[in-house]
Amino acid sequence: MARVGVVGAAGKMGKTLVKLIQQSPDLDLAAAVDLPGLQVIGQDAGIVAGIGEVGVSIADDLAQVVADIDVLIDFTIAVATEKNLEICHKAGTRMVIGTTGLSESQTVRMDEISSSVPVVFASNYSIGVNATFQLVEMAAGIFGDTVDVEIIESHHRHKVDAPSGTALSLGEHVAKGLGRDLASVSRHGRHGLTGARDRETIGFHAVRGGEIVGEHTVMFIAGGERLEITHRAQSRANFAEGALRAAGWIVNQVPGRYDMLDVLGLAR
Ligand code: NAD
Repeated sequence: MARVGVVGAAGKMGKTLVKLIQQSPDLDLAAAVDLPGLQVIGQDAGIVAGIGEVGVSIADDLAQVVADIDVLIDFTIAVATEKNLEICHKAGTRMVIGTTGLSESQTVRMDEISSSVPVVFASNYSIGVNATFQLVEMAAGIFGDTVDVEIIESHHRHKVDAPSGTALSLGEHVAKGLGRDLASVSRHGRHGLTGARDRETIGFHAVRGGEIVGEHTVMFIAGGERLEITHRAQSRANFAEGALRAAGWIVNQVPGRYDMLDVLGLAR
């Protein structure tokens, strides 16, 4: 039984993870952590998640509980994940990271740490989205330079980063299928006198509102036809189920940085 810690245990994803770990025959909730000063600190993680007592109270310092766990699942914010990576690195604890909006230097540090501690990082843990990654790469390879590609994502009004990490990963897969470098061809939104569209570019657009869990559409727009590939998440359980699958998988891996395609055995 893998001993799992959840950091961000009082958050939307954290509560879903706590709930699903309780239903898992292979994973044991061994620690829960959230931000110092929050009212939930010291409370039972199961009570906070709305499932009744689970016997694990929410701590406010990962360093104090890291020795109790085999794998940490982190869905928090970038600055917290940066700190948690260092703590897990020191303790040799495996990580499953879902936090989006990591900076380039934070991503470089994650890569460095993953050379000694196994880390799964996925911008989206849903199995449907990972299937979508494969599908858009294939479509891009088929269409080649005959289409304009636009990526539209929609999320709840509380999301703090844009475009979503998933939209960027979709862009990476499209760019790979087209043989382009995403960083030099991505264009974020349009406003004013933009000039005609350059075929080389890949457009990103972010919609924010209400409680939308997460929707992504990749449009391949040709002269006389348009292919749209859309994924709609209807609940956070998708992401949590994928992250738990990753947690069960990473305990048996050698150091390295992995993503959900590795976990699913789809990496090429
Ligand atoms: P949320 O705001 O509901 O929860 C974040 C939690 O992290 C909060 O409880 C907050 O108190 C806690 N936190 C913040 N700083 C902390 C610190 N220093 N130490 C400990 N805990 C800290 O957000 P959410 O909707 O649960 O999403 C969390 C992250 O996961 C976001 O980056 C989001 O984009 C990402 N996310 C990723 C996926 C995926 O599949 N990769 C899916 C959903 C959400």
